[in-house]
Amino acid sequence: QETELKTLISHSKEYGFIFPSSEIYDGLSAVYDYGQLGVELKNNIRNYWWYSMTRLHKNIVGIDAAIFMHPTTWKASGHVDAFMDPLVDNKDSKKRYRADVLIEEHIEKYNQRLQKEIDKASKRFGDSFDKELFVKTNPRALEILEKRDALHRRFVAALEKNDLDELRNILQDENIVCPISGTKNWTEVRYFNLMFDTKLGSVTDEASVIYLRPETAQGIFVNFLNVYKTGRMKVPFGIAQVGKAFRNEIVARQFIFRMREFEQMEMQFFVKPGTEMEWYRFWKEERMKWHLSLGIPDKYYRFHDHDKLAHYANAACDIQFNFPFGFKELEGIHSRTDFDLKNHETYSGRKMQYFDPETSESYIPYVIETSIGLDRTVLAMLSYALREETLNDGSTRTLLKLPYILAPAKVAVLPLVKKDGLPQKAEEVFEQLKWDFQCIYDEKDSIGRRYRRQDAIGTPYCITIDHQTLNDNTVTLRDRDTLEQIRIHISELNNFLNTQYHY
Ligand code: ATP
Repeated sequence: QETELKTLISHSKEYGFIFPSSEIYDGLSAVYDYGQLGVELKNNIRNYWWYSMTRLHKNIVGIDAAIFMHPTTWKASGHVDAFMDPLVDNKDSKKRYRADVLIEEHIEKYNQRLQKEIDKASKRFGDSFDKELFVKTNPRALEILEKRDALHRRFVAALEKNDLDELRNILQDENIVCPISGTKNWTEVRYFNLMFDTKLGSVTDEASVIYLRPETAQGIFVNFLNVYKTGRMKVPFGIAQVGKAFRNEIVARQFIFRMREFEQMEMQFFVKPGTEMEWYRFWKEERMKWHLSLGIPDKYYRFHDHDKLAHYANAACDIQFNFPFGFKELEGIHSRTDFDLKNHETYSGRKMQYFDPETSESYIPYVIETSIGLDRTVLAMLSYALREETLNDGSTRTLLKLPYILAPAKVAVLPLVKKDGLPQKAEEVFEQLKWDFQCIYDEKDSIGRRYRRQDAIGTPYCITIDHQTLNDNTVTLRDRDTLEQIRIHISELNNFLNTQYHY
């Protein structure tokens, strides 16, 4: 798993997808830059999400709110008082960790041990193996299960009561050690707010402190009235937004999985109180469909229902993706009740209500939120797509099997050789295609090497211009996945590619 992530990181850098931020100064921890191909991939994911929200739903519109917001926003949203992580230091390594993450990872170890027992037994029993029965009756499996559940209950209770001493006791009792020093010499657990703050203007009093937004959602809530009134929206309706968010994350590892500056794609859906569970279930299914529409096998995705709900939610789940380091959250779907609008009403003194023309009633709508990390989706796509493949002739190639619609370049235009007028002919083809498709033109190196390079960056089609092209205006079209090559007339290229790349 480690090597898989390392390979991914070096591939991302080698081909210009993702660089460490300000690398010439040795980088900045948990901050990354997107290179020439990474930005295209990211834009394609963003567009795929944006169009699916704003074009495919006539009752969803988009906005683009500022990153800086009035500081009271974050009082009302609860972030000033409650957007905190419980942190703990190891006295020997002097490393800082999130206590909750250490414990969650420890619980996952119980799961892995249980799975091992199940796998062993299923091999032994073959077809007649009954997993449920085995876990209920096998003493070893039962013991692991009971220990895990007891720990889980204790952990959830500690979080619910904000009992930091109890979190530390769990670390001690479960013998959870620091991955660096290997000791369990922990300090007490303390809360640490994740918001970055800065100063507005030159005034130095309290009121001038503002925050870099830690989520894009609040930009939507504070614009609820504006959009509802100017857009003549009728409940149920949604507001979508894509934008940067900032969190001073302590556990900053796993590449672009957890960054300090990242992008979120969020949609808040406003519904009539009492109908929220129906809409929650709707969006849960709808969002999973969106992921699967990219064509990645469904075994890479799973739902994780939350048993510990945030104070504002009455139902919540994640869509998890199988990253190189296991199943982890990619998207959150939350039923947020009227928590946000109600608090903004209290703090702003403005009525955050919807007037229902059918019943002539006014109410504060309930909200279903879908919130997905753009960078995390980039990571999910890269980690699924990158693979070494052995071909029929025994040779190997590096392939980035990205969904077509997301590939940074849709087509590469390649003159077979750099003479005999082939580059000029290739330029013509490039000119013809560039209006409709993201194209790459490349004339350097042998054709074999150029094909391999396009495979490694995920380009679905290569078009090769050869001597025959000069005679009959046909080119070779090579398919990334099947490696099949066909001859096709230049005048048919746009049509052919269009049928491959429709939304
Ligand atoms: P986690 O538990 O992983 O910290 P979260 O539950 O705090 O995530 P949300 O606040 O629900 O995350 O944010 C919604 C989405 O934003 C997440 O599903 C994730 O894809 C993305 N996201 C959150 N924090 C980060 C981060 N530090 N770096 C990259 N993406 C992030």
